[in-house]
Amino acid sequence: MARALLIIDFQNDFTPGGALAVAGGDQIAEPIKRLADRVDVVVATRDWHPPDHASFETEGGPWPVHCVRDTPGAQFHPAMDEIALEAVVDVGRARDDEGYSGFENSDLARIMRDRDVSEVYVCGLATDYCVRASAIDACSEGFEVTVVSDAIRAVEVSEGDGDRAIEEMRAAGASVADSAELLAGTR
Ligand SMILES: [Zn+2]
Repeated sequence: MARALLIIDFQNDFTPGGALAVAGGDQIAEPIKRLADRVDVVVATRDWHPPDHASFETEGGPWPVHCVRDTPGAQFHPAMDEIALEAVVDVGRARDDEGYSGFENSDLARIMRDRDVSEVYVCGLATDYCVRASAIDACSEGFEVTVVSDAIRAVEVSEGDGDRAIEEMRAAGASVADSAELLAGTR
């Protein structure tokens, strides 16, 4: 059985300087790189929207325009250049796809199963939206899920959203550990 690292939406628009920047979003690079070297499979998701995506403020949605497909903001953060990806999964591609979960209308579950993955380390951006939704869906898909606590950052539209998201992921069956614990095999 294989172990996968699932990197959620580590993209320019979600990191400092981006359209929907998450505070400290670039600080997840180091733990992600270290873990990527130690797992069997690395898969990354991208938020990948049409210009008129329903989540945009310009369309009556909650978010500024972000991660429009094929624009610089939608590209991976430069730290991802050093990570060898087995697969990239784009979500939120249709106007009305929410796109929070990497498993929504995607091949992600099949990609994992084809590679005999049983255990998934979830990291990336942002804790209270796409990481949360992806980790909960990974639990529903039957994977053994660990959220990497030092390789995620929250948007925190309301204070405490990040902590609440972690509790919701735990309630869905996910474990939480930091990268040092996972690398040391102490969890
Ligand atoms: Zn989005």
